[in-house]
Amino acid sequence: MGKVVAIFNQKGGVGKTTTNVNLSACLAKIGKKILVIDIDPQGNTTSGFGIDKNTVEYSIYDTLMGEINIKDTIIETAYRNLFLIPSNVDLAGSEIELTTREKRELALKSSISNIIEDYDFIFIDCPPSLGLLTINSLVASDSVLIPIQCEYYALEGVSSLMNTIKMVKKGLNSNLEIEGVVLSMFDGRTNLSIQVVDEVKKYFRGSVYTTIIPRNVRLAEAPSYGIPVIEYDPKSKGAKAYMELAEEFIEYIEDVI
Ligand code: ATP
Ligand code: MG
Repeated sequence: MGKVVAIFNQKGGVGKTTTNVNLSACLAKIGKKILVIDIDPQGNTTSGFGIDKNTVEYSIYDTLMGEINIKDTIIETAYRNLFLIPSNVDLAGSEIELTTREKRELALKSSISNIIEDYDFIFIDCPPSLGLLTINSLVASDSVLIPIQCEYYALEGVSSLMNTIKMVKKGLNSNLEIEGVVLSMFDGRTNLSIQVVDEVKKYFRGSVYTTIIPRNVRLAEAPSYGIPVIEYDPKSKGAKAYMELAEEFIEYIEDVI
């Protein structure tokens, strides 16, 4: 049965989407069957795979509203083993539309329950907020992968992030675990990056991945071509780091099983 992993940090611009697109692409490349769900109205994961979010027939919105079967929203990407449920700006209104629904926190969980077995991993790219779309993602997930940027105020907001996870665990999804913390946009030339790594490791203890994602221009360029970095420039530092992260991710899960 597939494992569902939410990529979450309510802070904006920390590398959630970059991690989602590139970790998924690397895992697909090493033979895992992956579904990526874009649940951010910005639709950056969707365009990161080269899919035009404005012309997709259906998006995750249609499923959350109960109008379309989730299977009909899944599209094949250009890459083997890699499938996507796109998002677009339609989703922006869904927080309000969901508010009036019964079991509004369970909409995503109940939709994906039919397809979990079809994949090895399902990754959900959360928006930078603590609203209903994020809560739906955490309720539907087995674990949370938290990207943290090696920058000033890296740990700012981490306590509300942890409180959100605790709240979901208590009320709606007692099985939710922390999959791991990924340090991103590391710049080895600065003391600041090195300090942040130490602070984050102190805070999260054993949950931080050994692989650290460096700041790398190829990672920033690849989305403008709609290509994961492993295809855009496989020899780049960014591509190598995400491939290492994919291997560490799998190793950890296989160790636990
Ligand atoms: P949001 O909260 O808006 O959804 P996010 O957490 O998904 O943001 P990203 O979109 O992944 O963050 O990254 C923010 C910006 O930083 C993007 O322009 C991205 O290309 C760039 N970026 C992310 N990771 C790296 C990296 N390791 N090296 C260089 N640029 C990066
Ligand atoms: Mg994003």
